[in-house]
Amino acid sequence: KFITLEGGEGAGKSTQALRLAERLRGQGITVVTTREPGGSEGAEAVRALFVDGAPDRWSVAAEACLINAARADHVERLIRPALERGDWVICDRFVDSTLAYQGAGKGLADSALRSLHHIAAADLWPDLTVLLDLPFAEGLERARSRGGAGRFEAHDTGFHGRVRAGFLQIAADEPARCRIVDSTGDADAVEAAVWAAVELLCQS
Ligand code: C5P
Repeated sequence: KFITLEGGEGAGKSTQALRLAERLRGQGITVVTTREPGGSEGAEAVRALFVDGAPDRWSVAAEACLINAARADHVERLIRPALERGDWVICDRFVDSTLAYQGAGKGLADSALRSLHHIAAADLWPDLTVLLDLPFAEGLERARSRGGAGRFEAHDTGFHGRVRAGFLQIAADEPARCRIVDSTGDADAVEAAVWAAVELLCQS
């Protein structure tokens, strides 16, 4: 099974990916945890091009191509082989981040981004996507308090609002794939809600 965790800055994706992996391992499942942009050697090199340097270093279309170039490598070298072995894969960000950030946030056409995904990932879509949702101001506060100003600081609140709305729209459009989890609570409460969303997959 292929599970993705999505959400804006400071939503708790990395923490919850680790906790979910531990829970699944407790069920006897072999789990690979990974992240985007990045996740394979080549994709991490592309991530560095993307996240290092000035936030406006790349045009939006170039950003989308970089992220998809990284994804092509990540899917081919890490995700697909793991799924073919029968392992479960938990990925911190995947296609929905591209649709929300470069699409809803920065205005690239959804259809263009889906075409890129079709090429880059040979249409690999998650079996389940958990959207960790919280008001963006809260997420930004958490992200700041864990230290350092990231790329996200370069964007105005309008951008972060569009990203959140973009994620929520995807979840509304694809209810069979997506579950929304309120991530305003503490990590234990969010972990329980994520587990409630994932548990059923263990039986199928
Ligand atoms: O989730 P993580 O903090 O690892 O993401 C690194 C940075 O890349 C974040 O600042 C995030 O906003 C940005 N990003 C982006 N577009 C994506 C995925 C991530 O701008 N599609």
